[in-house]
Amino acid sequence: MDIEKLEKYLGEIGEKSFRIKQIRKAVFVDGISSFEEISTLSKELRKKLDENFKILSFSAENILEAKDGQSVKALLELSDGNFLETVLISPKPGDWSVCVSTQVGCAMGCRFCATGKMGFKRNLTAEEITDQVLFWRQYLNGIKNLKFKIKNCDISNVVYMGMGEPFNNWKEVSESIRILTNKDLFAFGSRSISVSTSGIAEGIEKLASEFPQVNLAISLHFANDKKRDEFMPVNKKDNLESLKIALQKYFQKTKRKVFVEYILLEDANDTKEDAQELARYLKSIGNTHLLHVNLIGYNTTSGDFRSSSGNRTHKFKEYLLLGGINATIRKSLGEEIKGACGQLATR
Ligand code: SF4
Repeated sequence: MDIEKLEKYLGEIGEKSFRIKQIRKAVFVDGISSFEEISTLSKELRKKLDENFKILSFSAENILEAKDGQSVKALLELSDGNFLETVLISPKPGDWSVCVSTQVGCAMGCRFCATGKMGFKRNLTAEEITDQVLFWRQYLNGIKNLKFKIKNCDISNVVYMGMGEPFNNWKEVSESIRILTNKDLFAFGSRSISVSTSGIAEGIEKLASEFPQVNLAISLHFANDKKRDEFMPVNKKDNLESLKIALQKYFQKTKRKVFVEYILLEDANDTKEDAQELARYLKSIGNTHLLHVNLIGYNTTSGDFRSSSGNRTHKFKEYLLLGGINATIRKSLGEEIKGACGQLATR
């Protein structure tokens, strides 16, 4: 929703300034899906707005709900015919997180990721990014499906973990964070927002200086340059040493916790040596009390990789704890609808 354009239009047709407040609340807080629903506006104004403006910059092509009611994925068609995917996740009842995409496809080419296999098509605009949150707000407001057992229809978190590398589209991503945290619009707290990167050092420094209260997650997956080069091409530009320096600067500036995402791939990065190497690397960064490793099962996107067994996953966590590193085994939501980490690919 391009609210500035709408505000300008209201001025041009001579509407009073309090109208914009009513419209902002209806769109961003109440999650209306058509101006017709704003009963505080005159019929004539509602008609004019519906004729001249669209609340969302895309249309929903398909919506897939997981049977357990904990995740929903939407395929959205943009005005230029490109598609993107966005996911709504409920880690616990009444707690909803939106996972937003920042690009159509991704140029980073991580070998285990379905989005990476699509290649890069284009950057999303700040409006297209924030509209994904509006879309899910409208969805939750309109839902009648009891299997979701919704007690509280509000969205508590926004995570930049969908399609694309957020730091490759920083101009629009940073603008989208400003819109999400704007008190007159979405009014999210900065700490309710998380940005996940495959490891772009310059981006980490920008996040620390522009949004020190926004959470940072690093998709690390390998703590060995040779392996990381092989599976995550970003490492050829920003290797583990550059990432370490960026994180040290990040801690100096923010003193905030960083989440280290680690997908466990059978025989590729899940041995005792891999765990010990990861613990050594994280310790070399310093501030280990501010580093938390999330161990994530791999969601099959092709026949190239397999997820580590439960036994290996538990052992990996134990080795990390023995090495003095905090770690949690995360349940990956959305695998059934291919809406989990690394599975978004506009299928
Ligand atoms: S894991 Fe993230 S950075 Fe890597 S290819 Fe997939 S979307 Fe891009």
